[in-house]
Amino acid sequence: MPPETGLLIDNDKCVGCQACVKACPFAALSMKDKKAVVAAAACNLCGACVPVCKFSAMRIVRPEAAAGAPSPVDLAAWKGVWVFGEQVDGVLQRVVYELIGKGRELADQLGEPLTVLVPGHGMDAACQALLEYPVDHVLQVDDPALEHYAAEPYAAVMSDLISARRPAVVLAGATSIGRAFLARVAVAVRTGLTADCTGLDITPERELLQTRPAFGGNIMASILCRRHRPQMATVRHKVLPEAAKAPRWALASIPKAPPETTAYPFSTIPAAQSSPTCSP
Ligand code: SF4
Ligand code: SF4
Repeated sequence: MPPETGLLIDNDKCVGCQACVKACPFAALSMKDKKAVVAAAACNLCGACVPVCKFSAMRIVRPEAAAGAPSPVDLAAWKGVWVFGEQVDGVLQRVVYELIGKGRELADQLGEPLTVLVPGHGMDAACQALLEYPVDHVLQVDDPALEHYAAEPYAAVMSDLISARRPAVVLAGATSIGRAFLARVAVAVRTGLTADCTGLDITPERELLQTRPAFGGNIMASILCRRHRPQMATVRHKVLPEAAKAPRWALASIPKAPPETTAYPFSTIPAAQSSPTCSP
């Protein structure tokens, strides 16, 4: 017999308090014989009711989890941690340095490289300066069309590069820019996005553990992205300390490949020519 899926209510634990009924935004719960019952057709498995039940009478079993469905992607092929190098008027935002600090920790836990992706125009000096921080690569995407933020070209560039290079983790600041375009990227590359994280860690299974406040800040939710890649998160500004300067040039690889061009019409990645510092 296939395992039960959906919102499951344990009648032995349900005391009929009705708290879950009031918490459901979709009117999918009601009471029958002093027990909560769910209308499966109305329930979208949003999960809002589960933490409300103080008697642990509710749980959600999603169909794919119950079936033990394999991931649609080869998880092992996705490696490395990326940080979105958000810039405004050519100036990298402070949250980038905060993300470099956390990204370094995560990359070291995984034993994989940390890359900062900088879309923009005329950002050569800023990219060079980034290499004073503990990053392995700075991936500069230089084009006049990227000089100022615009959701569509930024999202297209990042989506192209993610699909081509397959990082395991992508982090961005939970700024107005990060929030606006990373959701587009997540949709384009068919993965999840955890917004406004306050904590990030790597589990023993090498997954990104994303922590964020939920339900008005009453609980801290721990979120995993188990079946899709990359694992994407935005992090609030000033939650994490900034990285200290600690260049890793000796560890940075020097690419010998010719310049690459993504499928995106105006995103080109200049290869390191005279310098190994800004490199794909
Ligand atoms: S909140 Fe829990 S105990 Fe209360 S009615 Fe709902 S399932 Fe039952
Ligand atoms: S999971 Fe969401 S939609 Fe379903 S019953 Fe609970 S609160 Fe309502």
